[in-house]
Amino acid sequence: MYPDDESKSQQLYRRALQVLPGGNSRHTVFYAPYPVYAASGRGCRITDVDGVERLDFVCNYSADMHGHSHPEIVAAIQAQAAKVISVGMPTAAEIDLAERICARMPGIDRIRFCNSGTEAVMFALKAARGFSGKPAVAKVEGAYHGSDDGASTSQQPDPARWGDAGAPSSVPLCGASRGAADDMVIIPMNDAGAACAIIEKHRDQLAAVLLDPIVKQLGYEQATPAFLRAIREVTQKHGILLIFDEVYSFRLGYRGAQGATGVTPDITAMGKIIGGGLPVGAVGGRADIMEAVFDPRDGGARVGHGGTFNANPLTMAAGAAAMALLTQSEFDRVAALGERARAGLREAAKIAAVPAMVRGATSMVGLFHLEAGTEMHNYRDMAAVVAGHPEMLQRAYRFFLHMLNNGVLMSPMGFMLLSTAMTESDIDFMLEQALQGMRSLG
Ligand SMILES: *Cc1c(COP(=O)(O)O)cnc(C)c1O
Repeated sequence: MYPDDESKSQQLYRRALQVLPGGNSRHTVFYAPYPVYAASGRGCRITDVDGVERLDFVCNYSADMHGHSHPEIVAAIQAQAAKVISVGMPTAAEIDLAERICARMPGIDRIRFCNSGTEAVMFALKAARGFSGKPAVAKVEGAYHGSDDGASTSQQPDPARWGDAGAPSSVPLCGASRGAADDMVIIPMNDAGAACAIIEKHRDQLAAVLLDPIVKQLGYEQATPAFLRAIREVTQKHGILLIFDEVYSFRLGYRGAQGATGVTPDITAMGKIIGGGLPVGAVGGRADIMEAVFDPRDGGARVGHGGTFNANPLTMAAGAAAMALLTQSEFDRVAALGERARAGLREAAKIAAVPAMVRGATSMVGLFHLEAGTEMHNYRDMAAVVAGHPEMLQRAYRFFLHMLNNGVLMSPMGFMLLSTAMTESDIDFMLEQALQGMRSLG
């Protein structure tokens, strides 16, 4: 049972506290009183250091699309490792992964690799500024785009500083440069009228609008077709580039969110799934933009793109194997499992007579302990909901504990991600535990 003072995880955590602040290198994977430590994984199952096996519905926050140690990904990594691991030369593996992504993503004619989604977003912003010569970028209030100073602006602004809803202030995260925040323009999610008015007002300064088509931090709020169309139109009209952050939203469609929505961005940031479980990021886009800023021939690139481990052979080999495995039919199968999970959670909540708002799409599932109709479409709605329902986060944590102690690993905030390693019986096992967990919430 978790928590357990005698567990190996608790012992490891005490040891970690002596050398890592808070015992940790990644805030996302911490929960109180201590996180369970992983030992090994196979398919959709993960075993902790105390020998407890659970279904893994975290999937490394989306990256592990094929579960753990898929034999074809392991074989690709082993074959590459036997040849060369790290080298100051390009390899064929880089071209292989680039061809697969370019063939798949409507908005990507050319692509370059880096090592994280944070870097992908950072290089996307640099590309837009380098191409246009303009300084500012617009982003959605409350959206997470990784740890870049500019892109993290107004990721979680304090109501005392967030300004007018129609023209939100740009609020730097603690630790970020204020100068970077000064170059960010903040727009509200899914309010096409207000967003377009803000973009029009700043059109001479704006190099780009940065959008995530499904914002996990806003409880999987999906950009509406009307919002996407309006932003695409206003950016095109004023020669502003549209950047999609598809680090996460790649799960929305076989060809990413851009394929699923039919709205094609000029630049795309990618990460997570495309590395097959190894660290990865990529910036892709229209050929003319990518070549104008990144082509090193004829006098050098406008925007420098270094990185000791960019396109490292292991990541490229693992990524190519992972992308080959993510066929249209596998994509559709996991999306159907996601639908089964969402429908099953709604049904379980009805049976247990507890409030539940189930959101998400395809292989992304979010369970929030709120009435189903609760309005939660942007950052300010969400702040109001959290303030008005202090019990919600406590219920989420109690539910998470129940699942953790009954064979299901999910995020403490209520997110679940599916992998191609799962079957209907794995979803049904999760749903049985969820029903018990909801009953115990009362
Ligand atoms: C995870 C994520 C990032 C950051 O990617 P890292 O590889 O963790 O740096 C950026 N944007 C979105 C939407 C993400 O989900």
